[in-house]
Amino acid sequence: MSVPQVLAAIRAAEADAGRPAGSAQLVAVTKGQPLEAIERCVLACGAFPLAEGRAQELRDKAAAWPEQEWHFIGPLQRNKVKYMRPVTLVHGLEAAWQAEAIAQAAQGWGRAPDVLLQVQNGEAQKHGTEPAALPGMLREVQATGLTVRGLMVMAPDLDGHPDRDERLLSLFRDTARRAQDLGLSELSMGMSGDYPLAVSAGATLVRVGRSLFS
Ligand SMILES: *Cc1c(COP(=O)(O)O)cnc(C)c1O
Repeated sequence: MSVPQVLAAIRAAEADAGRPAGSAQLVAVTKGQPLEAIERCVLACGAFPLAEGRAQELRDKAAAWPEQEWHFIGPLQRNKVKYMRPVTLVHGLEAAWQAEAIAQAAQGWGRAPDVLLQVQNGEAQKHGTEPAALPGMLREVQATGLTVRGLMVMAPDLDGHPDRDERLLSLFRDTARRAQDLGLSELSMGMSGDYPLAVSAGATLVRVGRSLFS
């Protein structure tokens, strides 16, 4: 796969779902990729936000390309908040202390990143906020002054399950409904293995990595 092929698959899933072309945006996940490969495989095909999952890697790449739009998709530790300075969107916010720490650091940066609240996916992976606790988390994060633009979810690995697609669709649709109930418009869901399903359920940001580089 390549960026043009992934974009074509996104456009096809939008059309199948009756969504406007371009309503789902590609966020290119570049973790582990050298700058040369990112330039050749991604930026040669257009301008895309790039997403990193490890704070030091983000720091180094953002220093090399300061004009680039950067997103952060990894779990955020307290001592790594300082590296969020170049970031415009933090996808996986999962605790109010993270919002407080970002908001405080951002006072010295002149601008703050927006955030998405990560929703627990109900399976083994325990990152994120339980759905029932989302309204409270939203209020706590908004109280720090950060702008919450939407929700983010990571699908569990269901490869080999006979009802994989139905279960993923149902997780993505539940997440879309939760965002709507909270009045949030941005939905970050879908990775290389499942982004067409996520787009059909309403994803506005798909975080695709491996498929862009293989
Ligand atoms: C690595 C990663 C992705 C991209 O995964 P691929 O399978 O490479 O497309 C998306 N989201 C998060 C949070 C990731 O860590």
